[in-house]
Amino acid sequence: MKLAMIGIGQAGGKILDKFLEYDERTDSGIVRSAIAVNTAKADLMGLEKVPEDNRVLIGQSRVKGHGVGADNELGAEIAEEDIDEIQGAIDNIPVHEVDAFLIIAALGGGTGSGGAPVLAKHLKRIYTEPVYGIGVLPGKDEGGIYTLNAARSFQTFVSEVDNLLVFDNDAWRKSGESIQGGYDEINEEIVTRFGILFGAGEVTGSGDVGESVVDSSEIINTLAGGGVSTIGYASETVENSGSSGGFLSKITGSGGSETEDSANTTNRITSLVRKAALGRLTLPCEIEGTERALLVVAGPSSYLNRKGIERGRKWLEEQTGSMEVRGGDYPVGDSSQVAAVTLLSGVTNVPRIKELQGKAVEAQENMDDIRQESEAALQDLVEDEDDELEPLF
Ligand code: GDP
Repeated sequence: MKLAMIGIGQAGGKILDKFLEYDERTDSGIVRSAIAVNTAKADLMGLEKVPEDNRVLIGQSRVKGHGVGADNELGAEIAEEDIDEIQGAIDNIPVHEVDAFLIIAALGGGTGSGGAPVLAKHLKRIYTEPVYGIGVLPGKDEGGIYTLNAARSFQTFVSEVDNLLVFDNDAWRKSGESIQGGYDEINEEIVTRFGILFGAGEVTGSGDVGESVVDSSEIINTLAGGGVSTIGYASETVENSGSSGGFLSKITGSGGSETEDSANTTNRITSLVRKAALGRLTLPCEIEGTERALLVVAGPSSYLNRKGIERGRKWLEEQTGSMEVRGGDYPVGDSSQVAAVTLLSGVTNVPRIKELQGKAVEAQENMDDIRQESEAALQDLVEDEDDELEPLF
């Protein structure tokens, strides 16, 4: 499907940049328009792929291009005050050509955390196209203010978008790497998953035809109804059809009989689906109780076996208990991989969110205590013991 993507804040902009790189590399055609919004000029300048005309600096009169310093209330205020400037960039988008808006932001910082929900509310008021969000949660070691920002922004953002697709940095932390290098890899993981998902509804002109191709309306229907979504992913490299014991022998491969190969392919696809749903999700959670789900199996069409996808879909139905599980293929002619992506929409059993909220409340209380204590301590310091001194005025 074709998306109008808006990255807000530093992480939002960087992930948007990665989406553009992915789109160029894979020719998936999902990014119809890309706009980056920030209060920090340096972050906007650091982007590589977002066209310069589509970079919107907001809050110049308030913060002079220096960012909001993790103050998400200020981030929200500025986005509201300067919404016309953002709208000015959106006015250049051929909205009739997009299937949905996608707002990308990290929820732990300031600009994205505060601005993303404001922007979502604005877009929903003006356009009929669905408005989705990608919200990135901070790592647990990032400290109280990030946790508090993320918990408050999460609550607000969920209620303003048609669906919030969550990615938890904490679950994807790579040890022993520089933070920047780590983010680069994490961002790659993000766009791979969302790229396949959204690419599924946008069949390119490769001429590769699937058996039951996923349509954008199936993605939209899975995301409809709101709430929080998480994504699972698993992939395998496709080996040459002749090599027996390879991953997926083509149905017409030379090794073994046709039925054997076909049964093998079916089994392999089913286990790939299990690996995707039971492996690391973008937001770890219990999959039982998921409201709606979508399974996409991507790869060269000769490897996409309808029976395998159907069995995977049924398995997902049993595991989630959902009555609304859709499934289909996404033919990618020149790919050397077969990948399964499971979109779990409307998840409710998410211990990580409960933990985040608990920590946020704790941080809020500690911050209040510290503020009160330091106010008292400062008064103690400034005033003389017996209050004999008089201020000048
Ligand atoms: P803003 O510019 O004020 O919106 O703040 P940021 O976008 O820098 O948000 C800070 C949060 O984003 C922190 O929780 C970081 O963990 C996270 N973050 C920063 N850069 C990246 C990135 O490139 N990728 C991801 N996944 N997270 C990031």
